[in-house]
Amino acid sequence: MLLKNFRKRYAMVMDTRRCVGCQTCVLACKAENGVPLNGYRDWIVTETKGEFPHLSMEIRSERCMHCSNAPCVTNCPTGASHYAKGGTVQVDRSLCTGCKACIAACPYEARYVHPDGYVDKCTFCMHRIDKGASTACVEGCPTKALAFGDLNDPASEIAKLLHENPPKLLRPEEGTEPNLYFLV
Ligand code: SF4
Ligand code: SF4
Repeated sequence: MLLKNFRKRYAMVMDTRRCVGCQTCVLACKAENGVPLNGYRDWIVTETKGEFPHLSMEIRSERCMHCSNAPCVTNCPTGASHYAKGGTVQVDRSLCTGCKACIAACPYEARYVHPDGYVDKCTFCMHRIDKGASTACVEGCPTKALAFGDLNDPASEIAKLLHENPPKLLRPEEGTEPNLYFLV
């Protein structure tokens, strides 16, 4: 399905300047989505920048980037990985054989194998979005480092954030067109 068929374009903005690495987003996701002990739908990365003595640390809350040109979708042999509402990338568990082709194709290591045999990852909490709430990680973050919304709506919080702050994309050279933007 072509992405232009979606009226909304769901995306997330992650402000690394606000993130303290407390892992609340990880725990909120685990609790909300019943993520098993061996898996993660989101995780924290810390990266040291600069050269001594001028060092700084970037802390990022990462997850599936819901790429607009997603290699996991292209490489899934059964159609289980697909584009869905708002241009998000979702996995149809009933079609997933657990072959791991999507895991090999994803440059961001965003997927894991669920103990029940299918591949799992962040869904942008679509079950919550459908009810008018935000994602569990956004609502749980104590420093307001995360924001979720519709990039096609110029009045949305994320559209304003990106208008005011040039964002960073992770591994743009992969050509995946990720929809998780980092403010640095
Ligand atoms: Fe697929 Fe990985 Fe992109 Fe998520 S981050 S849409 S799993 S390629
Ligand atoms: Fe987890 Fe939902 Fe946040 Fe994705 S959006 S990382 S599923 S809490």
